[in-house]
Amino acid sequence: MGRIDELSVDPLRSRIMRSVGSKKTKPEMLVRRALHTIGYRFRTNSKALPGSPDLAFTARKKAIFVHGCFWHRHSNCRLATTPKTRAEFWENKFSHNVERDARKVAELESLGWEVIAVWECETRQMDTVLPRVVEFLGKPRVMER
Ligand SMILES: [Zn+2]
Repeated sequence: MGRIDELSVDPLRSRIMRSVGSKKTKPEMLVRRALHTIGYRFRTNSKALPGSPDLAFTARKKAIFVHGCFWHRHSNCRLATTPKTRAEFWENKFSHNVERDARKVAELESLGWEVIAVWECETRQMDTVLPRVVEFLGKPRVMER
């Protein structure tokens, strides 16, 4: 099989395309990268906060969790399937995850933080989800330095 098309593409561009398009790119990384590009600065997995939110915007007191649809049970999402075997095991595991997520949000909110979740399936269409996230966060600060 000739791979002429691939060879004729600029190597850097093709590497970028591969990284952006890869299904292996974690949803959290997609969100981080997009928000960083827009100009937001944030802490990741801050241990100083309850639940170590995936992204924490300290000055704004806003936090974002990026959730895998399967593990965190995105409602009405086709990625949130339930395995046929060991149903009870999975149901327990899922409900545990959902409870823990709710607890994290409650703890953050009790400290005056606002919290949203961005779902894995949404990160497949960043242009759709980003406006919602920007609205939540407020505009990025003008970059200093
Ligand atoms: Zn989903």
